[in-house]
Amino acid sequence: MICLANNRKTDYTIVISASASPSISHAAHELKRFLEEITGARYNIALDCDLSPKAEEIIIGDNSHFRALDCGIDIESLGDEGLHIKTVGKTIVIAGSDKRGAMYGVYQLLDEFLGCKWLTEDCSVIPKRSNLCLGDIDFRFIPPLEFRDPYMLGYNDPDFYARNRCNASGRLTRAMGGSVKYARFVHSLDEIIPRDLQETHPEYFALRYDEKGENPKRVTGYVQPCLTNPEVLEIAKKNTRKILEQNPDCHIISVSQNDNQTFCQCDKCREIDEYEGSHAGTLLYFVNAIAEDIEKDFPDVAVDTLAYQYTRRPPKHVVPRKNVIVRLCSIECCFGHPLESCSLSGTEGGQASFTSDLVGWSKISNRLHIWDYTANFAHSLQPFPDFLVLQPNIQYFVRHGVTGIFEEGENSPREYGELNPLRQYVLAKLLWDPDLDYDLLVDEFLNGYFKGAAPSIRRFYDLMHSLVTEDVHVHIYDSPRQPYLSKEFLDESEKIFDQAEKTADDDLILRRVQKLRLSIRYVRACITPMEDPGRAAYVESLIADVRSHGITAYCEWQTAEHTEPRLREGKI
Ligand SMILES: [Zn+2]
Ligand SMILES: [Zn+2]
Repeated sequence: MICLANNRKTDYTIVISASASPSISHAAHELKRFLEEITGARYNIALDCDLSPKAEEIIIGDNSHFRALDCGIDIESLGDEGLHIKTVGKTIVIAGSDKRGAMYGVYQLLDEFLGCKWLTEDCSVIPKRSNLCLGDIDFRFIPPLEFRDPYMLGYNDPDFYARNRCNASGRLTRAMGGSVKYARFVHSLDEIIPRDLQETHPEYFALRYDEKGENPKRVTGYVQPCLTNPEVLEIAKKNTRKILEQNPDCHIISVSQNDNQTFCQCDKCREIDEYEGSHAGTLLYFVNAIAEDIEKDFPDVAVDTLAYQYTRRPPKHVVPRKNVIVRLCSIECCFGHPLESCSLSGTEGGQASFTSDLVGWSKISNRLHIWDYTANFAHSLQPFPDFLVLQPNIQYFVRHGVTGIFEEGENSPREYGELNPLRQYVLAKLLWDPDLDYDLLVDEFLNGYFKGAAPSIRRFYDLMHSLVTEDVHVHIYDSPRQPYLSKEFLDESEKIFDQAEKTADDDLILRRVQKLRLSIRYVRACITPMEDPGRAAYVESLIADVRSHGITAYCEWQTAEHTEPRLREGKI
């Protein structure tokens, strides 16, 4: 038994190397801060050279005390992000790389073994124990995903990301060991082959036939370039290098298609795509050539491209170079059922071949990432019952060799409604360890965030998911008029929220409950007929309350001011 605190006193010292990396220093201060918050004792941080080794130490990362202990941990085998927490007699060793591994080890100890939960940037659960004892620990973990982003535009607190062990581009500060950094994130061909070349070189851009398959002509505006034109490739190589030179610390550069489906249909492009059975053919030859070009000068950089919409199907022959990351996008899929069991998988339609595309890409890719979707982008307040697919889908991806996941969530600038804070928390935790006890995770959040109202909110959560029967599919642009959002569901939810408001501990919890309740009120406002005499007042009170909660958008790309008139006029 290790006693980290006894009656608000401790014999333990946190030990780091005199030449500790920024993330190890940061981790030491975080450990000190939270141990003090838990126990009320004072913990000192010592440099290994200033202290002779003693038993009561918490050793973070590689240093002379770690080496003297000779506890059989090979830090290098843990990679950049793996960790090993081990008790050796009374000593606690938190081993991991200088980069982020040891820091994640500290958070793992605080989270899994000491019960600290960082639910949102402004809501944490830190237990209080004036006596703090631990049994023996020997815990080694290497995260299966190299890229982990539970993305929500306005919720990007670096501490939330670090403490929950995510590493997405630009989220972690230098003191936290930095992130897996992208140069450009997506749809970058518009910059790499600039549109202004259309004036002088229309042949650099897509040739398109009309609907009858006649009258081929070069198109202009926001379109795709012609990827088999050798001059286009040379320009792309040059501009890719230019971006890399401007971003010397990046790990991945995106060379990815523009966000439209006007791919080139010239003879050369068509010939390759037909041979490859996919428009990913021309794209991958093009991206591979760029990846080959930069390989020697930028050996630590990978070139990322999308398998998205018309390029989603893997090609038959060409394979991604070893320094290419393919990011497969699930935009067409149902998020009400796990991908593996949804009846839309393997049938005709948008989702049809997603799972077979995934299997295909996983067979030929070195580094396969997923761009996944976790919000209703047309109605961000509306209940989005996707929570029961988050874990099975992440597990499914990992089983198929996926090494990075970008979970694209709510895209509003700041405050979010619905259950987005819960969603970001469980996603962060699952991206780190896909096999956590999911129900426990959900309850841990609800209890910490909604406190006395948690049982009611759990009932709402369960009710919302009971809507997703076998034949009910859920997509990211579902309207408030989807039959599954029935009047019975709204009525039952209102009762649950009445109860939740009654059991809210204080004003803060009440506000959280009321903010979530907006999701039910939004659907009701949208589906109430214009002739209903109470409608206008109902909509006005909704709009006022949405504003009072600081929510500035009802959907992606548009401000609340733009949506409000449509809401009033019954045009949603
Ligand atoms: Zn072409
Ligand atoms: Zn489905």
